[in-house]
Amino acid sequence: MALQNFEFCNPTRIVFGKETIQKLNDLIPATAKVLIIIGGGSVRKNGTLSEVETALGKRQFAVFEGIEPNPTFETSMKAVEKIRKENFDFLLGVGGGSVMDATKFITGAVHYKGDTWEIVTHGGKNITQVLPFGFVPTLPATGSEMNCGGVISRRATNDKLPIMNSLLYPLFSIIDPTKTYSLPEKQVANGIADAFVHVIEQYLTYPINAAVQDRFSEGLLLTLIEDGHKTLKNPTDYESRANFIWAATMALNGLIGAGVPQDWATHMIGHELTILYGIDHGRTLSILLPSLMNEMRKDKHGKLVQYGRRVWGLQGNDEEKIIDEAIDKTRAFFESLGIKTYLKEYDVDSSAVEKVVEQLRRHHLTALGEKGNITLEVSRRIVEASL
Ligand code: NAP
Ligand code: FE
Repeated sequence: MALQNFEFCNPTRIVFGKETIQKLNDLIPATAKVLIIIGGGSVRKNGTLSEVETALGKRQFAVFEGIEPNPTFETSMKAVEKIRKENFDFLLGVGGGSVMDATKFITGAVHYKGDTWEIVTHGGKNITQVLPFGFVPTLPATGSEMNCGGVISRRATNDKLPIMNSLLYPLFSIIDPTKTYSLPEKQVANGIADAFVHVIEQYLTYPINAAVQDRFSEGLLLTLIEDGHKTLKNPTDYESRANFIWAATMALNGLIGAGVPQDWATHMIGHELTILYGIDHGRTLSILLPSLMNEMRKDKHGKLVQYGRRVWGLQGNDEEKIIDEAIDKTRAFFESLGIKTYLKEYDVDSSAVEKVVEQLRRHHLTALGEKGNITLEVSRRIVEASL
């Protein structure tokens, strides 16, 4: 099977490197009234915010603080109200994936007529107008800095759902790797796992002849393994941190996903674990992926063998053995990052199985995977195997 038809256009300008935050001055109009959107204060503590404020020079700006991890509709709407009232015309998200995703929802909601929750229930398709926005990312993981997606939660109703719209590509992202040095080890590990799974979900499907995408994906996986370990061990080593960050951005900017089948089941089931039990995003993926690989090993046979051979260097002709070993290597990799890969290690018991299945049913996530054959029954088995 050949590469599927595709269109590829990624309009986001990336400015990468040390001491690049000052370039905000060139990238934001001098007359803009800027709302800086941040999380719980890490960017105040590590000096990123003050660099941003300096770079904005004489521009009018204010700071909206308080976007939480797994950003909520509720908090994002407070920013929307502030923007509507005070007429900001440029949004600048400074922080991790949560701040970036919230900024995307906020920019799409400002001019939305009607109930803004509909934006989330319609997957962002109904966004027709946005305010210009850019990012200063401080956590490599999500790829949100160079893609047009986001994930928004609503506490009141236990929903965590993706939005996507081509209007949601940021105009620019300024990535200064030194601004990530302050990350706790746990967040670095989560980021490596998240990026790794993003690649897997666009790669580990049924084989088609997508030589370019396959080899890009394998290169990203190998980089995340090698430089991931290095950057965890030595967080201020610029070389490995820079490679990890760029791999995380490339993992989900559309390039490796162009013209290939995709399987986002690990993410979709993972979102339910986060909203139900508060487990970090990257950890939910590390818990579910090995079980999903095993459950779907017939459908993914060819790719699992290729992955085992090319990424883990496995040898021999017994393909079932290679697949077993590739799955073991994957779990061992997450554990080598310090991530526990069974639900019981997060104090979650077997009652989770029905709860997750019920959430998936409620969210109409009943035909996941590259072939749409991850039914509720299959998802149930994946969660059971992850206990
Ligand atoms: P995050 O939720 O943005 O941040 C996690 C924690 O790291 C926060 O406590 C944050 O603190 C802190 N932090 C961020 N930068 C820091 C720094 N430089 N130094 C110290 N602490 C720092 O984590 P994330 O993994 O980037 O984002 C996760 C969210 O993204 C989830 O909701 C997930 O579902 C979503 N996601 C989106 C996509 C996409 O394509 N858009 C893909 C995958 C996942 P503060 O709050 O103080 O800033
Ligand atoms: Fe993710």
